[in-house]
Amino acid sequence: MRASSNNIHVTGSERILDEANLANVFNELVCRALSSHIKPDSISINVEKIEHDAICYAESLDIKTVKSPTTESAEKDAKKLLEANGIKTEIINQAFNLLRIGPAAGGSNMRGAIIMDIDTGKRIEPDTKRGVRVSRIDYTDAARKSIEKALLMHDIFHHRVIDAVAIATKVCRREETIAELCWSDNPDYTTGYVASEKSGYVRITNMKEKGSSRGGRVFFVNPEGLSLNDYINYLERQPVIINKIGTVYGS
Ligand code: AMP
Repeated sequence: MRASSNNIHVTGSERILDEANLANVFNELVCRALSSHIKPDSISINVEKIEHDAICYAESLDIKTVKSPTTESAEKDAKKLLEANGIKTEIINQAFNLLRIGPAAGGSNMRGAIIMDIDTGKRIEPDTKRGVRVSRIDYTDAARKSIEKALLMHDIFHHRVIDAVAIATKVCRREETIAELCWSDNPDYTTGYVASEKSGYVRITNMKEKGSSRGGRVFFVNPEGLSLNDYINYLERQPVIINKIGTVYGS
């Protein structure tokens, strides 16, 4: 589902389903679009057939929370985590600067993610206005119920966490990815995250000031032996379903 207002992206969501469940989920996706922070004037739902054999299954990243009291401390916490994943401070600073000012040309948000080379800090996604959009991800029904239950138990339930854990799991399970940095462009949602295979999915509170509509995603990649086409093809086209939930830790 893609929803926009005045041709500007408002929200999107993905599901991988059996045919029998299609109609029910249409309703859910339209409700999701209509309850966004900006009322969309266009909602598109696109349905594509996926072959069963093409699906990969994955266990979701462990979920942890760092309670940072201010944007400054959140930035420090995120930077520490990224450094612990072997990314140089100047490259991390570059990623933060981009997300703080708006990563697309002219300082606006992107629909997709930046791909950043960890050696040079160069953006290598082919379209720096749109970015690369991770697609074809979902949970089995049992795994979705299980993550909902665990998040509720730790009082951190939000549909954004469920969607973002799926994206981060798909991205970080790929060996080219060193880590991901993200915070939402929704002005009311200020919790961001750093994710990696090594660190898990680490929620960090107060990653941006409330009321700010700047946000984005950066995938830090190792350029050694990288085939950018294969990597992007995996992110956009490979169906991945989460069938097991990693540990969800309390804060
Ligand atoms: P959100 O957390 O949905 O507010 O998304 C924050 C930012 O992440 C957006 O502004 C986009 O730049 C980027 N983004 C959202 N969804 C995706 C996706 N499926 N794949 C890659 N980047 C995304």
